[in-house]
Amino acid sequence: MSVPEAKPAPLFDKLALIGIGLIGSSIALAAKREGLVRTVVAATRSQATADTANRLGIVDHCGTDLAAAVKDADLVIVCTPVGACGENMRVIAPNMKPGAIVSDVGSVKQAVIRDMRPHVPAGVHFVPAHPIAGTEHSGPEAGFPDLFKGRWCIVTPLEGVDRAAADRLAEFWRGCGSMVEFMAPDWHDKVLGIVSHLPHLIAYTIVGTADDMAGEQRSEVIKFAAGGFRDFTRIAASDPTMWRDVFLNNREAVLEILARFQEDLFYLQRAIRWGEGDKLFEIFERTRGIRRALLDMKQA
Ligand code: NAP
Repeated sequence: MSVPEAKPAPLFDKLALIGIGLIGSSIALAAKREGLVRTVVAATRSQATADTANRLGIVDHCGTDLAAAVKDADLVIVCTPVGACGENMRVIAPNMKPGAIVSDVGSVKQAVIRDMRPHVPAGVHFVPAHPIAGTEHSGPEAGFPDLFKGRWCIVTPLEGVDRAAADRLAEFWRGCGSMVEFMAPDWHDKVLGIVSHLPHLIAYTIVGTADDMAGEQRSEVIKFAAGGFRDFTRIAASDPTMWRDVFLNNREAVLEILARFQEDLFYLQRAIRWGEGDKLFEIFERTRGIRRALLDMKQA
């Protein structure tokens, strides 16, 4: 008779999530399923979202009092749009338990650290992080426990942080199925600028351009939307609040990469104008290699 595998003891007694949208609810579901925590509570801005989270049983309890939720929690993860992280940290700070870890999931790191750090009470370990996993859907109904499986989570510990706290948070993310990498916050913002923020900006532009087309041409675009355009519409359907905050808070890195992108686009434009097929072919051949590398790394 096979004996069921015993789960290791939970890493944390009480996890509190501030914000329970796609990312917050996916963390709750993964943490509960994997036995990483004993209790998970959440607090969110609106009663409607709290009601949904409670109805779906995503957490043990979800309310709208952010400060009350973090009481006695030994891990607090702020899962709200980047622009709201600082204010939420200010609100929860007085109720944070000494020795607890506070983290976030923001897609931008330097601005979140700038906004949250001043409010983190002495004796509380602030370990920022960013799970690189998501979909174009939002809200607690969009969450699922496998969201982080096989995906990277970047942890950006600050100078002087307790290493054991950073390692514990990394362990939590590994428990949720992620692969963890430690990175400096400014480097994170540069890398994400190219792999995530720029592609979203391009998708918003392309779909916006198609939408600006006049009458019949516009309806033909929608009707015949094929592979390429359809993929862009999915990305361009991502949450407007989240992405507004990302661009406003990673301004320098995005503007820098956008300038380089424009140069490369002009290069392609020129090659098309002058019929320089060899230049086009050479670039397309090179970019194909990137796709192959992604497939090899199982990140496609
Ligand atoms: P979401 O599904 O839209 O959920 C956002 C949550 O934050 C909701 O609980 C919402 O509350 C709350 N919230 C929104 N504005 C707030 C404010 N001003 N003050 C307090 N609470 C507020 O968003 P998400 O996709 O989970 O994203 C959350 C964070 O994860 C963002 O920082 C984003 O950068 C990061 N992230 C997202 C993805 C992705 O693909 N979506 C991937 C990685 C990281 P109500 O519903 O009650 O208003």
